Amino acid sequence: MKLILLGAPGAGKGSHAKLISKKYNIPQISMGDIIRENIKQGSELGLKFKEYADKGNLVPDELVIELLKDRLKKEDCEEGYILDGFPRTITQAEALENITEIDKVLLLDCTEETVIQRLGGRRTCKKCGKIFHIINMVPKVDGVCDACGGELFKRDDDNTETIKNRLNVFHEQTSPLIEFYENKNILKTIDANPQLEEAFPNVEKALEE
Ligand SMILES: [Zn+2]
Repeated sequence: MKLILLGAPGAGKGSHAKLISKKYNIPQISMGDIIRENIKQGSELGLKFKEYADKGNLVPDELVIELLKDRLKKEDCEEGYILDGFPRTITQAEALENITEIDKVLLLDCTEETVIQRLGGRRTCKKCGKIFHIINMVPKVDGVCDACGGELFKRDDDNTETIKNRLNVFHEQTSPLIEFYENKNILKTIDANPQLEEAFPNVEKALEE
């Protein structure tokens, strides 16, 4: 099963991907991880990528596609995979079609209100970086990290205005892709407003349809 996972920040993409990956035994593939791995290993493609990035130049789509193609050839991808964070543009989506055939695109859809509640309630430990939530993952002592006793704070990223901006950017970037995959009849929209345990059965249903 070859999947693309789309979802706004706070929609629960990471958590859903983890569950899908476990249930269907397919890896979750993030473009960011592929790039980091290639640079770390000093592969030919990795070095090329680094050259662009170091100069602050935009990395060409062809190079990104080459990196992905290389990754999808690995053994763990034989039964399929979940693509996360790729494609971001129509050009990339079209290029992707030349190297593989995607079965389904899942769009984790949720309201701005949900996202603000989820991200806005996050508290991060100053010392160890562990993340808590004022509703969903309450620390034992208010404002104090369970793991290390560090002070919890609200990151700038988690303020309402910043969240709204991130959502706008997401919708602008993603709506052409949604249309692209809708036209191919492979887009499935999942209501991601409920908590993970409640929303995941809908993901399973969409995948088994
Ligand atoms: Zn801590």
